Amino acid sequence: MTNFDHKTVDLYNLFKDQDFEMDLFRNKELEDDVKELYQYNCQFCCINMEDVADLGLDNQEQFKIAHLWDLKFSGPAEMTNMLCLCAECEISFAVGRFIVQKEGSKFKWFSYYPDEMDWFEGGLVALQDTHKLSEECVLWHSIYNKKRTIDIREKGLESWNQQAEDQCLTHANQELKKKFPDHVSSRIKHD
Ligand SMILES: [Zn+2]
Repeated sequence: MTNFDHKTVDLYNLFKDQDFEMDLFRNKELEDDVKELYQYNCQFCCINMEDVADLGLDNQEQFKIAHLWDLKFSGPAEMTNMLCLCAECEISFAVGRFIVQKEGSKFKWFSYYPDEMDWFEGGLVALQDTHKLSEECVLWHSIYNKKRTIDIREKGLESWNQQAEDQCLTHANQELKKKFPDHVSSRIKHD
């Protein structure tokens, strides 16, 4: 985690502490399939096993499966909700400093610049033909994390509590219901 400022690491540790039990909801077999599909290439920055080896990290553990729609909030443990990311991109994605947006038929990832409080294009999300992303899941991640990132930026990490999390969740669910009024509502448990 050497490339990260303390705030990112603090956020990551905070969120991960809350998420550890989510391993129960993971589909490890499917996650391994997705890693194999991408042959351990990061779908964002495109770093691969050879690059990782050059950094002295000769290890498949450096590649993670990230879920767009958080499993903790009833996101599906399905391929359409999964991304194969390097460990560093996974951290930024987990804390909401990286988001994905659909533009035309492509998916692009964006990186948050705290000084400008805005996201800037990082590049295309590398996608295999057989791997479709769920638009609902992409949108859920981006709505939830945009609000969370801005809220924490404006109010400080110490303000992040259950109530703040609930507000982000309600916001994401409301926005998503507007976009997908029919088929997404069964997954949303919080109103
Ligand atoms: Zn990466």
